[in-house]
Amino acid sequence: MAIPRTARHARLVPPAAAALVLGIALAGCSSGSSGADPASYPDDTIEVIVPFAAGGPTDTVTRIVAEPMGAELGQQVVVQNVEGAGGTVGAGEASQADPDGYTALLHHIGMSTAPSLYADLNFDPVEDFEPVGLVTEVPMTIISRPGLGPADMDELVSYIEENEGSITLAHAGVGSASNLCGLLLEDALGVDVQEVPYDGTGPAMTDILGGQVDIMCDQTTNTASQITSGAVDVYAVTTPERVEVFPDIPTAQEEGVDLEVSVWHGLYLPAGTPEEIVETLRASLETALADQAVIDALADLGTAPVAADQVTPDALSTRLQEQIDLWAEVLPEPGS
Ligand code: ASP
Repeated sequence: MAIPRTARHARLVPPAAAALVLGIALAGCSSGSSGADPASYPDDTIEVIVPFAAGGPTDTVTRIVAEPMGAELGQQVVVQNVEGAGGTVGAGEASQADPDGYTALLHHIGMSTAPSLYADLNFDPVEDFEPVGLVTEVPMTIISRPGLGPADMDELVSYIEENEGSITLAHAGVGSASNLCGLLLEDALGVDVQEVPYDGTGPAMTDILGGQVDIMCDQTTNTASQITSGAVDVYAVTTPERVEVFPDIPTAQEEGVDLEVSVWHGLYLPAGTPEEIVETLRASLETALADQAVIDALADLGTAPVAADQVTPDALSTRLQEQIDLWAEVLPEPGS
């Protein structure tokens, strides 16, 4: 039988030194960031890792909920952008954090696509995290740089087919939602376009606006204001139904393109975080999502909080597993 870690440690440490070690350990427990102490949680700032660049849609959603969560918890909830490799760098870092409730991860559908897209993923989305709850589900939009030319989805499809080798599609790296939507679009049209990866679709949007890249499929939480101001051209939404704030934009399905996807977001803590801490953070998320200012901010961006009964570990773990299974069927094997 394996010796429990503490017993093994005690045998190797002489009594006086052991007292000193114990003193340091107890002192550590009183500080929020170095020990998982449900009774005093939270007594320090909570960091939420966003695995994409600042200014993009995941960052925007996280910042909208962070402030009211902090107000509810009586501590600041701050965003830490850890971008790279389609969200897998930030998720990997979050998986390694201390399971004390002071480092969380807000990630999207990419948690479920990464296992199908990476042969050597450095984290396990199921085993390495405690799900806290679902946050929101966001429609995507197919947009282009101003002046690309096509007037509607039909013309865009012809344009892509005619310029398959040269048209550029921006996305936030392999495993990102915009990469997934791009893959689904390519598959629906039977084309292979030039992909241009970024650390997030915030920076990608800057290049769409500047005309350096042609098209992108991204969440309304990034595209809504650019669509409304006419700064980008929009062709379709990717949801089964039209989106309330954009009643004039057709769905891809209506336009004859077999593409349907929306981007669900979830909040996670590292595996091993005590249940009481998970529940404290979950309750603050539920409160934040019921806040009228949050509802209004998300509505302006074409989305809404999930229903309160979805802000639970069970709802998120069910969605995560369903989607891991779904994308494993749909996406090609890594490297194939
Ligand atoms: N919307 C991005 C994606 O495609 C991520 C981001 O920048 O928030 O996954």
